[in-house]
Parts: sequence; C-alpha cells; structure tokens
Amino acid sequence: MRPLIAGNWKMNGLSGALGEIEAVARAVAAERPAADILICPPATLIARAVNAASGRIAIGGQDCHAEKSGAFTGDISAEMLRDAGATAVILGHSERRQHHGETDDQVAAKARAAWRAGLLGIVCVGETEAQRDDGEALNVVARQIAGSRPGGAGPGITAIAYEPVWAIGTGRTPTLAEITQMHAHIRKCLGSGQIRILYGGSVKPSNAAEILAAPDVGGALVGGASLNSSDFREIFSTMPPRA
Ligand code: PEP
Repeated sequence: MRPLIAGNWKMNGLSGALGEIEAVARAVAAERPAADILICPPATLIARAVNAASGRIAIGGQDCHAEKSGAFTGDISAEMLRDAGATAVILGHSERRQHHGETDDQVAAKARAAWRAGLLGIVCVGETEAQRDDGEALNVVARQIAGSRPGGAGPGITAIAYEPVWAIGTGRTPTLAEITQMHAHIRKCLGSGQIRILYGGSVKPSNAAEILAAPDVGGALVGGASLNSSDFREIFSTMPPRA
C-alpha cells in the first residue's frame, strides 16, 4: 500500500482555513509525493474542503456514529460523511476515548460503520505515559487492536494509527527504536502485511523523514503541524517522488 499522510485538524478551522487545503492540493499536484494525502477538518468544513481539494487530496471526518441514522442528536453517521464527500474517518482518537469515554467496543462498531459506508476507518491506539512507565505499552496496544479493529477488514478498509497518548500535542516523541518495536508488534497483532500502520504524536517537519523511514511505518497522523499548509507540505515532501 502507498503510505498515507493524514492531517487531523481537531476542533480547529473556520471558512478561512479552506485556503490551507487549496495550498496543500496545489503542492500535491506540483510535487506528486509518493503517499496518499488526507486532511480531516471539522465536519462543518468537509463539503467545502472536498471542493477546495480538487480531487488531489482526500478529505475525511474525525469521528462517526455506529448507526446509519436515528435519534442521536449532534452525531454524524458514516453515511453522512460519505455523502458530504469524505472518503475516510479517524476513529477512537485518544481525545475521544478520554473526553467522550469511548470504549474499544464502541470504536469497533464505528469502524464497522465506516466499512459499511465505504470509508477508510483509521483506528487509533496508544498507551498513556503511566502505562509505558509500567512496562504495559505492548499489552495495552494489543488489547486495543483486538478490541477496536473490525475483524476481517483488509487494507483498503482499515488503517491503524499508533499514537502514544503522551506524545500527542506535547512535542515529545518515542525513540525510533520504540516506534519500530511498537509497529512490529502491531504488525504481528494484525497478522497482515498490508494494513497501513501510521505513527502519530508530535510529527513535524524536523522529525518526519526519520519517522517515515522506520520499518513498518506506513505513514503519519499529524495534528498541530497539519493546520499550516507549509509545515504539512514539508512533512509529505519527505516522501520521495513517484517514478
Ligand atoms: C493527533 O491529534 O492525532 C496528533 C498526533 O497530534 P499532534 O501531531 O499535534 O501531536
């Protein structure tokens, strides 16, 4: 699979931010990076982001409900994201697990919904700092993978994002050896050579090249540095151009 560089805008971005998507789309057209590029803006911008992307980059959501429709005020279904032009959705981000109490079971149900709607579900997993300090990181991630990944889903259906919670938005990253060890572990848990395993947590222009070159790293999930088109461009420009 081609690597995937995905931007998670979280709860950031008003209409004016669409210019950043246009700039990223122009950069992708000019540089033809050897990776698929995805931006996940807030849901309010998805339809306009799809226009701004001009088919050059993919647009995704940041969460979805497990049901197709119904009495779920404030929620958005996978089908609605698809209808707005999204082709992917981030699921089980640690901020949703932490602030909305999402469980592995709920994340798995959302991942099945994404599959049903024809969206790539990017399932996030990762340990807290206390879990790493206790030597539990590998076990925690194995449990999250087993619990939140939809069984039988292939590489076009699901991707995994390994995001150590303590590295998100902190400027801290695991060592390359730790990233390599965890990605090999996730690959073993998946039992498939094809599913993309993204690394996420303080990826920025200065560290992207070495992280993206690490074994079993199939791309990146980028938060803060994806809000600025030139930083995001610098990150995906580290991928060598297509032949
Ligand atoms: C994220 O929110 O998924 C993330 C990785 O954030 P940051 O890159 O800002 O650490």
